[in-house]
Amino acid sequence: MQFNPEKYLIPDERMKPFINPDEIWEYITNTPTSKQLVLDIIAKSLSKKRLNLEEVAALINANTPELVDLIKQGARTLKQAIYGNRIVLFAPLYIGNKCSNNCSYCGFRSSNQAAERISLDDEQIKLEIESLEDVGQKRLILVFGEHAQYNPAFIANAVRVAYSVKKGNGEIRRVNINAAPMEIEGFQIVKDAGIGTFQIFQETYHPEIYKTYHLRGKKADYHYRLTALDRAQEAGLDDVGIGALFGLYDWRFEVMALVRHTNHLEACYNVGPHTISFPRLKDASMLPLGEQYFVSDADFTKLIAILRLAVPYTGMILTAREPANLRNEIMQFGVSQIDGGTRIELGAYTKSKQAEQNLNKGQFRINDDRSLNEVIDELIQQEMIPSFCTSCYRMGRTGEHFMEFSVPGFIKKFCTPNAILTFAEYLCDYAPEETAEKGWKLIDKELKDLDDAKIVQLMNERLDLIKKGKRDIYF
Ligand code: SAM
Ligand code: SF4
Repeated sequence: MQFNPEKYLIPDERMKPFINPDEIWEYITNTPTSKQLVLDIIAKSLSKKRLNLEEVAALINANTPELVDLIKQGARTLKQAIYGNRIVLFAPLYIGNKCSNNCSYCGFRSSNQAAERISLDDEQIKLEIESLEDVGQKRLILVFGEHAQYNPAFIANAVRVAYSVKKGNGEIRRVNINAAPMEIEGFQIVKDAGIGTFQIFQETYHPEIYKTYHLRGKKADYHYRLTALDRAQEAGLDDVGIGALFGLYDWRFEVMALVRHTNHLEACYNVGPHTISFPRLKDASMLPLGEQYFVSDADFTKLIAILRLAVPYTGMILTAREPANLRNEIMQFGVSQIDGGTRIELGAYTKSKQAEQNLNKGQFRINDDRSLNEVIDELIQQEMIPSFCTSCYRMGRTGEHFMEFSVPGFIKKFCTPNAILTFAEYLCDYAPEETAEKGWKLIDKELKDLDDAKIVQLMNERLDLIKKGKRDIYF
């Protein structure tokens, strides 16, 4: 190592900025790599240890096809060995697209005159939730623009409305949030409504580059956003999601910064992020996107594999911004959650006239518009278990990914059985006959693979109860 990272290191202190761009670039520029090093780093990750910045830089700098394949194979092995073959499904629900910021990449930006501004009222939210429940959704993320109207009480109310709607066997069991940064008191109000994860993406972690995309509005304050999830932690909201919008700046920098953010949360709060998201910049209403920092499919796949290895205990989310074929491939490298049946236009889940009028007025274009059942069909085909599990969150087991990761046998005892039980509910209540037939076959196979007579017996009893109409059974 030719440089002294100590020179750049910002100590991790609560509520204090922690990104030093020079430090990150020094690592990227000066860290050598080799086959042996890559193998050693992968071995470290497979032994369940988080990687440090130098190791992440060595993976980033591994560019030959052979080394990239090793990294992808390492991520695949890690996912398989630690998480098994479950994929958690969720749907985004856009509640309001008013926005006082002007992020140049976003269709909701205040200067976008073409965007019709809509905020769903309680009745409209209920209709949306009913439509989501009708197809079998159980886990949502509510999304908001940044606007005075969408204050913490407004967001908390939307969460409560979402939980209150029960249609048939349908109910929403976990509501996550993606909204603007708040003060500590605001996070407390939203937490009290019973949310799961609060997600805030830094977009780009480079302070100077950040400025160029966020010229005005509250979001122009880079540090306020950077420390947002510290305030969430101070509010007792320890279930937080970080992310970067890939395409705004050099992907290598963002990967390093996501790991740096993870280290910061671990150092200050003893808990890393619950999830990492890596949205890739998509065409947004009337906005020509620059090509300078475009992330190719190959780099995108590589960076996801690197993140999987770098932070082995964290959930990783891949959204419908990406096309189905790429999603299917990338899932193998360690993604744990995907959305299915996604609509990002305001009111679009409700099959009302209003929704039809609003079609194509979303924040950006999605590239995977398959229905939830189509996504599930493909998961079954790949022998992945679609999961709607919310057990840990409802049993008060926060940090579930950490448990999956660190508690021996946790996955066999809890995660896989719960995934199967929620999948069985879906098959009974919402799946077309063909899907149900294939789904039950997959469940039979999974039960055999559980390889523990006691658990298999318990599972068979519970599956019988589900077939008889009992719902929401979990370990
Ligand atoms: N307004 C809040 C904020 O900015 O944090 C939350 C909602 S915003 C709609 C959610 C995320 O969408 C942003 O954090 C950004 O990463 C992502 N996003 C915005 N424009 C996008 C685009 N053109 N393509 C892909 N993702 C985009
Ligand atoms: Fe508003 Fe968020 Fe879009 Fe920026 S990314 S314009 S803050 S909705």
